[in-house]
Amino acid sequence: MEQLENIYRELLQNIDEDPERDGLRDTPRRAAKAFQFLTKGYHDNIDEVINGAVFESDMDEIVLVKNIELYSLCEHHLLPFIGKCHVGYLPNGKILGLSKIARIVDLYARRLQIQENLTKQIADAINNTTEPAGVAVVIEAQHLCMMMRGVEKQNSSMVTSCVLGVFRENLSTREEFLSLLK
Ligand code: ZN
Repeated sequence: MEQLENIYRELLQNIDEDPERDGLRDTPRRAAKAFQFLTKGYHDNIDEVINGAVFESDMDEIVLVKNIELYSLCEHHLLPFIGKCHVGYLPNGKILGLSKIARIVDLYARRLQIQENLTKQIADAINNTTEPAGVAVVIEAQHLCMMMRGVEKQNSSMVTSCVLGVFRENLSTREEFLSLLK
């Protein structure tokens, strides 16, 4: 933590700011704390997150959790990307506690990411923990690195998806998922 604070103090000096001026005096500490929070996914693991909340069920219809808020940091610029994640799976004997799906999203979003990998890591985690017939994950996000700098495209969003198992193999299952998303 102290090391991270020093790095932020140095960063302020390097952009010709005065880290000792009033408004900035506590900034290195606050920024270090914020950055630690935004990357806390490195210190959590999937088993702790799931914590046994996998239940037996003979449910054999798609379970869909829509519009999970997503906040992550792009690994290329350390700037946020923000959006929504939709997670669907077709159970095969096991279901996951509802809140756990959102927590899995956070586990991987609170690391430095690119959206494509994040999408796949979430799908793999659901796949490994519940061994469903299939998983589908869609993320729509806006990238601050694109909006605030570079091409400055304010309204473009990026959509990525990862489909596994029956969602990949069976067109009608995939279409059912997509129609539930609308
Ligand atoms: Zn970026």
